[in-house]
Amino acid sequence: RKDEIYVKKSLETIKLIDDKINSFITINENANGIIPIAVKDNIVTKGLKTTCGSKLLENFVPSFDATVVKKLKKNNFAIVGKTNLDEFAMGTGTEFSAFFVTKNPWDNERVAGGSSGGSAAAVASGEVVAALGSDTGGSIRQPAAFCGVVGFKPTYGLVSRYGLVAFASSLDQIGPITKSSGDAAYIMNIISGKDENDSTTVEKNIDFESLLNENFSNISVAYPEEVFGEGIEEGIKIKFEEFIKFLEKKRIKVEKISFPELKYVVATYYIIAPAEVSSNLSRFDGIRYGNRIKSEGLLETYLKSRKQLGEEVIRRIMLGTFTLSAAYYDAYFEKAQKVRRLISNTINSFLEKYDFIISPTSPITAFKIGEVKDPLVYYMMDIFTIPANLAGLPAISIPFGFSNNLPVGMQIMGKRFDDAKVLGFANFIE
Ligand code: GLN
Repeated sequence: RKDEIYVKKSLETIKLIDDKINSFITINENANGIIPIAVKDNIVTKGLKTTCGSKLLENFVPSFDATVVKKLKKNNFAIVGKTNLDEFAMGTGTEFSAFFVTKNPWDNERVAGGSSGGSAAAVASGEVVAALGSDTGGSIRQPAAFCGVVGFKPTYGLVSRYGLVAFASSLDQIGPITKSSGDAAYIMNIISGKDENDSTTVEKNIDFESLLNENFSNISVAYPEEVFGEGIEEGIKIKFEEFIKFLEKKRIKVEKISFPELKYVVATYYIIAPAEVSSNLSRFDGIRYGNRIKSEGLLETYLKSRKQLGEEVIRRIMLGTFTLSAAYYDAYFEKAQKVRRLISNTINSFLEKYDFIISPTSPITAFKIGEVKDPLVYYMMDIFTIPANLAGLPAISIPFGFSNNLPVGMQIMGKRFDDAKVLGFANFIE
């Protein structure tokens, strides 16, 4: 059929270039539909391997489709493959995938970002027109920024997480990675909606495409002055100054705000997310889920099976188990929950006064593969993306030129359920 030409082309392109980029863990030769799309490999697909980038799930073939996948298929999307990610989506560069590292299409010596690095690279290199990612602390927006494409994290509760292998359930959200915000809005209209299989989804009936032709001149946006502080690459600061000028030229009012709580967001996230990990990942024990490494007795079987997990995943499980333990619960987990509330309140009060909060998506551009050794250095990269997850807000990363020949992304964060407005504004300035 003539309809299937795009799917054929996409599969051909993947075959031609993917050994250079490594976007895909699994290619689906039998994909059928009209529009080729890639899906991050922590979103389950019936009859198609879903590995989560982990040795433990290397051979896992799900028996059902995630709600988002079901919806895509119903709307003529063809799932051409499953994309690489950091193991269980924990990471910032796909370097923690158990299989291989995805390369940045703009510079093959650098990471594509993470954890949805495979999805972002697949879109940026033209292997597919769109992809799904998941975002717990920035994993859609940061790789989109590193690869020069659009990445959108919806308001928490707008997209069903049924069939998304849980990382940190109170933060996780599925969203699109595309070439334009119009495409992202189109996909949002398909994948969103209340789902009886995910009790955290809400009934909202948003038309995500409704504000794509809106004129956003005369609105006012704010940026945290901390953007020009320590730890932010010089080139990013320069691009952000340019971004402010660019917005002002469009007659948008840009104001500086002080957001001192920003220095606590990384610490807060890295208490809350691992705590949820320690609980969510307990099912991967070789008995309930995952390759079983059979050995003498049950305990040995558990231990050997769990040993298939990578270093970063184990670090998070241990950290989470520690902060949830009776002796430390009050000192860490409970305190982090309170700080999360404070941070959310602060952001929401800014958004009472301003239409959007803007910032660079990432404090740096794509780094060299293997360059970063210290986990804390990785964690700090999430500083601008984490706030939207802690507060459950919609945020988009759009490409805004280059610094040292590497793509730079700018982030726009809006009020809860203002998703159509965020997408509309992104489209207005694109
Ligand atoms: N880089 C963050 C982390 O490692 C975010 C990951 C994500 O959003 N899935 O936890």
